[in-house]
Amino acid sequence: MNDKDCIFCAIARGDIPSVKIWESDRTLAFLDISPMTKGHALVIPKAHFATLADVPSGDAEADAACREWFLVTRLLARAAIERFGGANLLQCNGPAAGQTVGHLHLHVIPRQGADAVAQPEFVSGAGKYASDSERDEIAAQLREALANLAAAEGLRASATSAR
Ligand code: AMP
Ligand code: ZN
Repeated sequence: MNDKDCIFCAIARGDIPSVKIWESDRTLAFLDISPMTKGHALVIPKAHFATLADVPSGDAEADAACREWFLVTRLLARAAIERFGGANLLQCNGPAAGQTVGHLHLHVIPRQGADAVAQPEFVSGAGKYASDSERDEIAAQLREALANLAAAEGLRASATSAR
């Protein structure tokens, strides 16, 4: 369930730092290190599945992991829509689809009104923060909004620390 050579498994273990937005036993959301837009976050099941094709069927724990993975994604998208105006979800499976990290993840990419009429341009790094404090403020806003939305669903985070 945990791949020693996987960077997202290392983040889930806490061996590599990340700006966390949500953490529970099964799920982690954290800011993308090279954001397409401000607030760009990744949501992962902590269990290691390389792609959607690698999630076993008929496995109660995998089902529970995926259910919570998408619930957290849906609620984080709602938090991003309420904070920024809109959001794109992106989920890449395999190198042929542009996947660069082989651990299942969903991108939640906040979109703002100014770019709402354009087709999404997924330019890595274009969401550069003016400062670490701007990044941390946005992370805190998303973290709080997601915690509130999740509480309404009966879902609780096990950790709310920024790193
Ligand atoms: P994909 O192309 O869908 O596999 O996206 C992988 C994403 O992981 C990219 O947007 C990277 O910027 C992001 N990423 C890679 N390493 C890290 C890291 N250590 N912390 C946060 N995000 C990362
Ligand atoms: Zn992994």
